[in-house]
Amino acid sequence: MPTSREYARLRSRMVDEQLVERGVSESRLLDALRMMPRHQFVPDEHKPQSYDDKPLPIGDGQTISQPYIVGFMTETLRLKPHHRVLEIGTGSGYQTAILCHLADYVYSVERVARLAETAGARLGDLGYSNLDIHIGDGSQGLPDQAPFDRIMVTAAVPRLPQVLCAQLSEFGGQLILPIGSAPAQELMLITRATDRFTRRSLLGCRFVPLIGRYGFDSKTDSASFVS
Ligand code: SAM
Repeated sequence: MPTSREYARLRSRMVDEQLVERGVSESRLLDALRMMPRHQFVPDEHKPQSYDDKPLPIGDGQTISQPYIVGFMTETLRLKPHHRVLEIGTGSGYQTAILCHLADYVYSVERVARLAETAGARLGDLGYSNLDIHIGDGSQGLPDQAPFDRIMVTAAVPRLPQVLCAQLSEFGGQLILPIGSAPAQELMLITRATDRFTRRSLLGCRFVPLIGRYGFDSKTDSASFVS
C-alpha cells in the first residue's frame, strides 16, 4: 500500500496531468482537489489506483467518478462560497467533499443506505459539517429544501426531470446532469432565469443509471452502463 507521502505525490500528479492539462483552471477548485485524500474514499483493494484517470468500484455496483469528470462538472457550476447545493448520488462522498469545500451548504441524496452512511462518516472524519445526507430517491430532488443555487446529478437520467428544474433558484440557478442510456449519454447544463430555462450540451459521458421515479427502472443493469 502506498504511504501518505506517496499518495500526496500521486495526487499532485493527478491534478497537473488529468485536470490542469485538460483545461480545469479555477484556483479554489484545484486547491480542493490537491488537498482531498481521494484514497480515503476508495475501498482497500482499489486504493493503489485512487489517483488513476478512471472511475473505480465502490461496492453495490456503483463507482467513484473519474477525477477529470469531478473537476469538469464542478468547474462548470462556478460555485460561490454562498451557494446552497443539491447533489444527487452521494456515492463515496468524494464529490460531496469537494462541493462542501467550495459552497456554503450541501444537501446530498443517495439511494443506497450503506453508501450514504459510509460517506457521512467519512466526511465527518474529514471535518466537514456543512452538509446533510439523505437516504432515498434523489430523482425527485428535495422540494422541502428548495430552491438551490446549483444541482449536480452524478448518475444518468433517461430524460430531463422537470421536478429538478423547478427546484432551481429563479436567479441563475444551474443544474448539471448526464442524460441518456449507455453508450450515448450527454452531459447537459440547464440554466434558469425566472421561468426561462436554457440547455447546453457539454460532452459525451458514461455514468451509472439513476434509479428512481424520474430515473431508470430498478431492474436496469448498472454494469451495462459503465465500461
Ligand atoms: N459522485 C460520487 C462519488 O464521488 O463517489 C459517485 C456517484 S456514482 C457515479 C452514482 C451514485 O448515484 C451511486 O452511488 C448510486 O447509488 C446513486 N443513485 C442512483 N440512483 C439514485 C437515486 N434515485 N437517488 C440517489 N442516488 C442514486
